[in-house]
Amino acid sequence: MSKHDQTNGKVILAAAGPGDPGLITVKAAQYLQLAEVVLVDRLVSEEIIKMYVSDHAEIVYVGKQCRRGPSTPQVTINELMVQYAHAGKLVVRLKGGDLSIFSNILDELQTLAKHRIPFEIIPGVTAALGAAAYTGIPLTARGYSTAVRFLTFYKSDIITAEYWQELAKTNDTLVFYMSAETLEDAVNLLIQHNISGDKLMAIVEQATTPYQNVTITNLYDYREKFKGRSYISPTLVIIGKVVALHDKFRWMENSTNREHYFHPIRNSAKQI
Ligand code: SAH
Repeated sequence: MSKHDQTNGKVILAAAGPGDPGLITVKAAQYLQLAEVVLVDRLVSEEIIKMYVSDHAEIVYVGKQCRRGPSTPQVTINELMVQYAHAGKLVVRLKGGDLSIFSNILDELQTLAKHRIPFEIIPGVTAALGAAAYTGIPLTARGYSTAVRFLTFYKSDIITAEYWQELAKTNDTLVFYMSAETLEDAVNLLIQHNISGDKLMAIVEQATTPYQNVTITNLYDYREKFKGRSYISPTLVIIGKVVALHDKFRWMENSTNREHYFHPIRNSAKQI
């Protein structure tokens, strides 16, 4: 861990992992102890803040894309990082999962580079890996799949017809982020492109948290049994033959609690 220059400040872009507070890295936890300011994302739990952030730190909630709470524009987050760093602070920008997977890290890196603010990046457990472990579904289990793809389908133009065709054909395990609301469309498209009947789907709500809930279904049955069902955010979808392994290797009970595990964090009093 390098010391930050008091006159310049420094920003640590740190991953919090998928939910279970034990899945944060030692390095991120150490920086959270030292941080003077923590800018917190929507998918970071209160437990993580309570367990790892020092009482003296200023906590600023900058969650985005949340239908149930405040949403912070990216420009505001960028500005806050710059302001705090220019005030000489050690800032931790804490995000759920890993930062290089479906997070807006590029915007923040560009901002930091533009303002010549020193930074470090600390990796974390992305939701796909957290969900794989906590559901007992090894994503590239020998004999089942030789690769895994991390995808998103939050808007319909993200995946072309040709690519759906390929996704329906491949034996790679498919993991869909941010796609719970468009799941019915994704399933329909895969079926239209003749995905084979032995591919199963795991819908994992609130993976690695005490409220984790896993639904396993064949894609063809999904349309009959689960049409119109809504899922608690965050939800991840795993599709592939590997999903069959859940039955044998599951080690966590499904929670019947339908509450939300992640809530907006309350800001601490100080603001610059
Ligand atoms: N950077 C994050 C992903 C952010 S995008 C990561 O590496 O995990 C947000 C999406 O991630 C959610 O819509 C959901 O699909 C997935 N996700 C994040 N945490 C999750 C969790 N605990 N359980 C299930 N899905 C999760």
